[in-house]
Amino acid sequence: MRPIALILFLFVAVLASAAEETNHFCVVCGKGPLTGRIWISKWGPVCNDCYKLGNHCSLCGLPVREGDGSVKTGDGRFICKFDKPNAVLDLDEAKEVFADVRRELVELFGAGFALNFPDVTVNLFDVDYWSELGRSDGLHKFGFASTRTAAKGVCTHEVVMLSGRLKMELAATAAHEYTHLWINENRPPEHAIATDTVEAICELSAYKLMEARAQPEQLQKILANPYTHGEIKNLVAFEKENGIAAVLNWVKNGTTPTLEAPVAARAVPVKIPSLIFTNAPPALPDVLKLGGLLLDGQSRHVVISGVTFAAGQVKPVPLQNRTLLVHCCDITRDEVTLEVDGAPEKFTLKIGEEKNIP
Ligand SMILES: [Zn+2]
Ligand SMILES: [Zn+2]
Repeated sequence: MRPIALILFLFVAVLASAAEETNHFCVVCGKGPLTGRIWISKWGPVCNDCYKLGNHCSLCGLPVREGDGSVKTGDGRFICKFDKPNAVLDLDEAKEVFADVRRELVELFGAGFALNFPDVTVNLFDVDYWSELGRSDGLHKFGFASTRTAAKGVCTHEVVMLSGRLKMELAATAAHEYTHLWINENRPPEHAIATDTVEAICELSAYKLMEARAQPEQLQKILANPYTHGEIKNLVAFEKENGIAAVLNWVKNGTTPTLEAPVAARAVPVKIPSLIFTNAPPALPDVLKLGGLLLDGQSRHVVISGVTFAAGQVKPVPLQNRTLLVHCCDITRDEVTLEVDGAPEKFTLKIGEEKNIP
């Protein structure tokens, strides 16, 4: 299984200009030139009306409205027109992604990584399928692999993956699930492997694939994912030192439930990202972050970790395990100056910047 650690790219950078200086057009509805409040998304300006829309792209957070080129999945998620070309909604395309990944992994890891029973049924499912939906910890399943063993040891494999994800992320899931199938075929029953280690080996495949595809962002995501409780870092370190063949050989011939990584590589703290899935309530942030800056004529507001401030205001900001009392000292065109109870001195944040208050 591969966890869903979908980070919803919240609508962050926000900016408005005075009426006279804008030649912005809304990327959602096309309206413009815009005046007054303008919100800047990763795809460009958004008018204030569209900003208030209730539906958002499940991949990037952009507001969507009917007829704007976005699509809706069977389970009610929206995908904006910008993400649509890279999102996999179609089963044939998902099968292609899986087949490509499988071929690349066998090239990377060697012929021993091919399946003895090569038939794999690939399916795509909507989010409703996953029973974990609605759990507030934000961890859900992106994929699932199963192998059934019939008489005479004949295996039949099945992989199901979540629809409507970006192609590169689906590929990472495909690598993970394919590895489960390989482990199912190759781990002898007497070799019990700890769950986190099994998952970390599957993540290691995704990692090696993304390394081969030169996708540093995906590598970061895999390392930061708390799903394996940090075990992925040990596996990456082990593989670096001993090679992938040693990992695969250990699955087949090892006797211990975990794979020991070199001492120096252990105990690297795992940064846990804020995990937000579209239908689940967002987890509280654990840092102070300038999510938005709104300049509207003379009035200026900022959004600090979800709480809106005008200059001079003092408000509590709830974080994951505590609440900080924050004084918004000053707001300029592109940054905010804050004073926080418990922090030694004032500091500034630009849009998208964050500060960890120990
Ligand atoms: Zn608009
Ligand atoms: Zn989008």
